[in-house]
Amino acid sequence: MCGIVAYLGHREACPIILKGLHRLEYRGYDSAGVALLNGDLNVYKKKGKVSDLEAYIAEKDTHATVGMGHTRWATHGEPNDENAHPHYSTSERIAIIHNGIIENYAALKKHLQQQGHVFHSDTDTEVFVNLIEEIQKQNSCSLEEAVRLALHEVVGAYAIVVLSKDAPNQLIAARKGSPMVIGIGDGEFFIASDATPIIEYTNEVVYVNDYEIVMIRDGQLNIRTKEDVSQTPYIQKLELELDSIEKGGYPHFMLKEIFEQPRSILDSMRGRLELEASHLNMGGIRAYEQKFVNAQRIIIVACGTSWHAGLVAEYLIEDLARIPVEVEYASEFRYRNPIITERDIVIAISQSGETADTLAAIELAKSKGATIFGICNVVGSSIARATDAGAYTHAGPEIGVASTKAFTAQVTVLTLLAMIMGQKRGTLTDTKLRELMVELDTIPAKVTKALELDTEIRAIAEIFKDASNFLYLGRGYNFPVALEGALKLKEISYIHAEGYPAAEMKHGPIALIDENMPMVVIATRDSSYEKVVSNIQEVKARKGRIIAVVSEGDKVIPAMAEFVIEVPHTSEVLMPLVSVIPLQLLSYHIAVLRGCNVDQPRNLAKSVTVE
Ligand code: GLU
Repeated sequence: MCGIVAYLGHREACPIILKGLHRLEYRGYDSAGVALLNGDLNVYKKKGKVSDLEAYIAEKDTHATVGMGHTRWATHGEPNDENAHPHYSTSERIAIIHNGIIENYAALKKHLQQQGHVFHSDTDTEVFVNLIEEIQKQNSCSLEEAVRLALHEVVGAYAIVVLSKDAPNQLIAARKGSPMVIGIGDGEFFIASDATPIIEYTNEVVYVNDYEIVMIRDGQLNIRTKEDVSQTPYIQKLELELDSIEKGGYPHFMLKEIFEQPRSILDSMRGRLELEASHLNMGGIRAYEQKFVNAQRIIIVACGTSWHAGLVAEYLIEDLARIPVEVEYASEFRYRNPIITERDIVIAISQSGETADTLAAIELAKSKGATIFGICNVVGSSIARATDAGAYTHAGPEIGVASTKAFTAQVTVLTLLAMIMGQKRGTLTDTKLRELMVELDTIPAKVTKALELDTEIRAIAEIFKDASNFLYLGRGYNFPVALEGALKLKEISYIHAEGYPAAEMKHGPIALIDENMPMVVIATRDSSYEKVVSNIQEVKARKGRIIAVVSEGDKVIPAMAEFVIEVPHTSEVLMPLVSVIPLQLLSYHIAVLRGCNVDQPRNLAKSVTVE
């Protein structure tokens, strides 16, 4: 993970870099640092958040118009000042920032130590900068050439920026597997892990491809491949609004993003659900429609919350389009020699589009000839580029580390996809399809209504904020929602929580129930409603404390459950989009009441670009 920012131009670099690091802090916040080039090459770095770095450098001379900064999510070496980036080479004439992992760092380090290089950190990154220095020395070449040659020796993933004391007006960068975008302003250049540090200054960007080396010098941007072939930069216009990456009056990004869902769900169906024309449209699958129609199997690969969206899609696609679906953890999938054929379609889901495990799973599936369809939020991301076809979720930037609006947008896109497949395959009647279209159109309004439960849910959070464990139960379409509710609580409040299919409870977890165990049961009116009511009785008989999420107007469950949260009713197929809302709010309020940093939970980072 990690966030990187660099600047070269006519303004003071440090404030631009620090502001950019704040925007990228969702990517990691173990430590932060800057390197500034102003005759000297000064590195300032500190364990902790970007604000700790700011306090540390307040009294230092930070005057420079060239510089770079890093906010770290540690992979090699604990979060401390020494392991913070930037890292100097042994001579302290070169400095590097790095996002990723150098897998063969141990062998390289040993070799470099034999050549006299001295290491001050436990990171793989410090090996990279010393390797560049050694190559430059051995070959008496330019720094750019040394970086290019170094790329042939490192194995792993990286987005790096390199500064040298001997080249006062130059930035060199390279990437493989970790994201990097360049902003082109008027006589100034920006480099960052995503466009959020750049948008304020320019909307002209170039997305760097794997194995490309970027050289910024004398007002020029040059890109070469690792094989030393010059590339013409492809300049794109950014469509990101500055407002969308600010908190907009909310205390946390997570709350803002929860409340944005009526809009983000609408955005994810815009141009795709054409109710008046009774038409569904998804540009991304048009060219692959026959493949989908004839698919013998769909394999969904994802991680974390996206995996839960994938589970909802399993119900949706099997139900509506009658194609067998398997949902896989991307990390497990690639290491177990899966059976994949050319008639399979692999759907990869990732908010950031940079999830390393999902990218690796895509590469594996590709090598076996499957058609790959991507569902990502970040436009131009690596997964969006690595897939044959795909659909963006259009949820807007998600900055809170705990995913909320990306989940509902993913489920919306997957619902549309399942409906389109059902229509094309003839497994969904026109009447049923029309009913679903009409109902889907009401979802943003129903989510708005569910958000009005905020105060009520905060009161429930007050009561349970000190619990040590939580169980979440759901059946059918609400089972993945139970998993997602439990994950949200774990991520941001550090309370142990588990999600279970309600009927599985009696095969184990029922042993955990006593008068201290809060149990969130999603019991909306659907085909398994009666069964869930029985499950509630079983919990009640053992004195578990029940918080039930029910459909509006339910008369049965309020008589049994201690707390009842009534959400607007919708079709069973679409219910996850509504029933997840109170669970997001519950975890948010519990975490805030426990004093947790909900936007930056410990040990986590937003996009997991390491395997
Ligand atoms: N491997 C580097 C470190 O541990 C960078 C980490 C990352 O990008 O996640 O410092």
